[in-house]
Amino acid sequence: MDPERPTVLLDHYLKLLKLPTIKREYRIVAAACAKEGHDAIEFLARLCERECLEREQRAAERRIRAAGFPIIKTLDTFDFAAQPSINRPLVTQLMRGEYLGQHENILLMGNPGTGKTHIATALGHAACAQGKHVRFHTVTALVTQLLEARDNRQLERFLKRLARHHLLILDEFGYVPFSKTGAELLFEVLSRAYERMSIILTTNLPFENWTEILGNERLTGALLDRLTHRVHIIEANGESYRLKNAKKRHRRE
Ligand code: ADP
Ligand code: MG
Repeated sequence: MDPERPTVLLDHYLKLLKLPTIKREYRIVAAACAKEGHDAIEFLARLCERECLEREQRAAERRIRAAGFPIIKTLDTFDFAAQPSINRPLVTQLMRGEYLGQHENILLMGNPGTGKTHIATALGHAACAQGKHVRFHTVTALVTQLLEARDNRQLERFLKRLARHHLLILDEFGYVPFSKTGAELLFEVLSRAYERMSIILTTNLPFENWTEILGNERLTGALLDRLTHRVHIIEANGESYRLKNAKKRHRRE
């Protein structure tokens, strides 16, 4: 292609067709193809590939923003050696996201500071990259929003919006007990999610103490039944990562 050729019309078409990557790159790719002796079909294929890749990437970024992660964490920064209680092969397998297709759940259980939120976020991040719609909430914030939605007669709408996701991450179950209505609304969310979407829940509480948070033995039983029917459990029972680092720093001083 003659690089001096006027391309106003081409640029205009590409803008109308919403192909920004092709618009930006066709000159560079045309020059490369001319130099390497490729034909027009190869040229077109290369451009379309770039457009598709960028589109996919932008969509993944949008899904990550929409998920509402408190901080973006990935497994690259997770030190498994520092937390040997965590089943690394299981985490690695779950990162591939097959559990999402089966609507299976993941429970991350263990002491504070052992990386539960970190791993839950990394799994959510991977799911976004795999084309899934993800939503992250602390359990307390979700229950507050559910109560508000109910007071404003928006509950059904809120629940429907939540149900549009493939994965719901519920962080920090067990720190704050719920009111009776709060517990019932959480149950409603998990009930509707059952076999339709995946839940990742992090908690510091062993199952036998869940009634203390939910306030009702029957409801706890029913909730656990749904949550644990198809579940992968990751246990993290070591020392707090933050505490360990703080101690290390303290020893050095
Ligand atoms: P939890 O949710 O279990 O209380 P977090 O995931 O919030 O713990 O971890 C606390 C902090 O320590 C976070 O900043 C997290 O990234 C970091 N952290 C925890 N465990 C590890 C680890 N094994 N490797 C790297 N960072 C870790
Ligand atoms: Mg946490």
